Order: sequence, then structure tokens, then C-alpha cells
Amino acid sequence: MTIFVVYLLATGIVAAWLGQVMWRHLDGFDWQYRSDDVWTGFWLGVLLWPLWLIVRPSLILRGTTVLADDNLENFDINGVLANRRRQVHQAIKNPPSCGARVSYGFPDFEHDSPVQTVFEAADIEAHFKGRELPLFWGDEQEALVVFIKGRDDSSPETTPIPEAVDFEDMAAELIDAGIGEVYCAECGAYCDAHSLEKVVPPLTPGWNFADYVCPAGHKTFRRKHIHILPAGRGVSVR
Ligand SMILES: [Zn+2]
Repeated sequence: MTIFVVYLLATGIVAAWLGQVMWRHLDGFDWQYRSDDVWTGFWLGVLLWPLWLIVRPSLILRGTTVLADDNLENFDINGVLANRRRQVHQAIKNPPSCGARVSYGFPDFEHDSPVQTVFEAADIEAHFKGRELPLFWGDEQEALVVFIKGRDDSSPETTPIPEAVDFEDMAAELIDAGIGEVYCAECGAYCDAHSLEKVVPPLTPGWNFADYVCPAGHKTFRRKHIHILPAGRGVSVR
């Protein structure tokens, strides 16, 4: 009987401890995007605390059972989402400084590291002026507009596009329009986007890629071009 009372008492202490971790460390983005994960973590902590104290004490002692950062390595999609939205929100509230030129690491499908691209901030504004930006989240649009409009054209520094903004589709549209510069690793120099040749092999079902070739004939990078559904599976592009 005494052991049971001690167990109940300890369970109450664990619940109160995890509760204060949640109170102190979680914000609106956690509650909006990963509240189910938080409560699952809380109940797993409260119900199984003796087990965790043996196999992974930090889950209880540091309260990581309710926090997202411990799960990011395991690709906790809700934790990543909450973190991303938090970063975008911070970029709106406190935009990083923007110079006359901005840089963006464009994902290259042939290499792990992105290819470096540079754009005049004024060109970005001119190209997309008055249009809905090709960004998935409305707050990303707000963050980017605040960033670009707040630029200092007299600043010679090339400043990176805020990491929280997924700039890939915008960069692709700019490059296809011949705007900006793309770094060619083999030339060891930036090439004007309008001097690149876009090479698209004959289309096949599935993902098709486009290669961007510099004037010296080097493939600067490869990107997803178009996805084609196999014949007989609805819409297909020829
Ligand atoms: Zn080259």
C-alpha cells in the first residue's frame, strides 16, 4: 500500500514537472501545429515515467518528452512545421537586413550542396510586383515582402534570403526569365541567368529534370522540371 501511495505521489510530481516544462517552453506555434504530439508526450511521460528514468532519463528530467527539439532528428514533421512557422513569424517581426543584392542556395538534384544564385533585390520586386508570389504559405509572402521592401540599395553586401522562406519556385521563375546570376563551379564564376541554356531531355513518365548549362558547356545545376503521370492515370502531359 505504501509503495502504491509513493508511486502515485511520484506520478503527481512527474505530471507537475512536465506541466511546468510545457508552460515555460512551448509557444503558440507548438500548440497550433503539434498539440497532439505534446499531449501524447505528456501522457507517455506520466504513465511510463519509471521506464523512461531507466532507459532515457532526459525524457523526464529535462522534459524532452513534450518538446519538439529532441524529435527533430527523427524528422518529427509537426515539430519541423512549428519551427518553420516560428522562424517565418520572427522574420516578419524582425526582418534581417537586405542589401541591393540577395543570395539563395538553389537545391541541385545532382548534388547535396545547393548551387549559389544571386539576384538584384530590385529585380525581384519588379518581376513579381502586383502578383501573388509562388509561395506555399501566406506568411512567407509577408516575410519576403518585408525583407525586400526594407532593403538598403546603397549597401554593397549580398544578403541571404531568410532561410525560413522557401524561395525555390521564385528563384526558378527568375532564372527562367533570364534574371540573376548562377554560380558555375567549373568556371569558378557567376554566369548571367540569360546566358544559361536550359536543356530538357525527351519527357518520360515520372519526374523530368532540366539542366542549366553555362556558356562554356558546364552543367551548373539540375532541377525538377515537370512531373508526368503514366498513361492511363488521369491527366498526362506530352
Ligand atoms: Zn561553366
